[in-house]
Amino acid sequence: MKYIGAHVSTRGGVENAPLNAQRIGATAFAFFTRNQRQWHAKALSEPAIRAFKSNCASCGYSPGQILPHSSYLINLGHPRTQGLEKSRRAFLDEMQRCESLGLIYLNFHPGSHLGKIRQSSCLKRIAESIDFALNATRKVTAVIENTAGQGNCLGYRFEQLAEIIDQVEHKSRVGVCLDTCHCFAAGYDISTVAGCEATFAEFDAVIGFRYLCGVHLNGSKATLGSRVDRHDSLDHGCLGMTPFKYIMQDSRFDNIPMVLETIDASLWPQEIALLRALSSG
Ligand SMILES: [Zn+2]
Ligand SMILES: [Zn+2]
Repeated sequence: MKYIGAHVSTRGGVENAPLNAQRIGATAFAFFTRNQRQWHAKALSEPAIRAFKSNCASCGYSPGQILPHSSYLINLGHPRTQGLEKSRRAFLDEMQRCESLGLIYLNFHPGSHLGKIRQSSCLKRIAESIDFALNATRKVTAVIENTAGQGNCLGYRFEQLAEIIDQVEHKSRVGVCLDTCHCFAAGYDISTVAGCEATFAEFDAVIGFRYLCGVHLNGSKATLGSRVDRHDSLDHGCLGMTPFKYIMQDSRFDNIPMVLETIDASLWPQEIALLRALSSG
């Protein structure tokens, strides 16, 4: 079964996310568990938690179809102690939010060395940050997203994601989310069938599909290997429809949340319908 949806709004409360997802015909969804651009977040209220769970149940979303995304401010590989501790506290708070909502995944960007420490030290810090959060929680899997490699952000090569996972102690609760736009911008040419075959074979060899917990389905405005993170609608930009058709017909992508983060939300109902047709055709 392919679970297909989009990163929906939580305006008015987190409990609105499943309703917004249902409205666009989604069988999966992503959302921010808190304001993604502020450090401070109000605790989730008991009524909001109850409403979220009952809306998920009535709309038919199980935890395995939901991929919450963490704040962009968090840098789990921060080179400085203060920044690292602040990020770790915020990340743990997000993991606990997910746990209280009955969810099993939290998707996040690995982190940046800010040009201050070596890549290997940064990757080690990220692994330690993940273990810090996993030690304090029980049910949520930390889902590392591959990045475009913009600036000093790590996680753009599969080897870097593998290096993080290798150093995480709780391997049963660490996973990976593949973003198609980020893949392409990082230099993995998934715009052709042969390129998809090679890229996903490489993913399987370096990381392993057993770690795949989610997919971000995005077109790319930026060119192959540009290391620039600019999403586009599915059938626009440099990727074309080939990678999406490939993913929809590949059973290695079954039973995980796959969500659009494409730039025109008004197209989401059509994009979801198109993907669904590709998955059955
Ligand atoms: Zn992301
Ligand atoms: Zn993404």
